[in-house]
Amino acid sequence: MVNDGEASGVGHSPHLLECEGMTVYNVMEEVVHDVLMQYKSKLQLGCNCDRCMDDIQALALNGIEPRYIVKKEYGPYVRAAHEADHQGATNILSTVIKAASIVSASPRCAEKVVTTDETAEGTPV
Ligand SMILES: [Zn+2]
Repeated sequence: MVNDGEASGVGHSPHLLECEGMTVYNVMEEVVHDVLMQYKSKLQLGCNCDRCMDDIQALALNGIEPRYIVKKEYGPYVRAAHEADHQGATNILSTVIKAASIVSASPRCAEKVVTTDETAEGTPV
């Protein structure tokens, strides 16, 4: 029997906590997602199915410097800082617009043949 009533919160080794709780993720994924959702109707997308949305996000993220953070709970802070940065926001928007036009020009969901290999479509910005 493990007495976890008392043990939780105290006594755990920091390393263990770090391993369990560590989630590294790219905040820009959220930012790009937000921008895409916000401007979706204005982007004149050829298609707005999930597949194309994912493609646009992936493509845009390839052109944006990632910002990896460790803890999900810090996300909003980093995001807020980034949204306050107008230059950065403009850059993200233009990258999303570019990605949207590329995907709209040749939506992959329209392709009958599903390719498993990821052909690098990322265009250098
Ligand atoms: Zn589509």
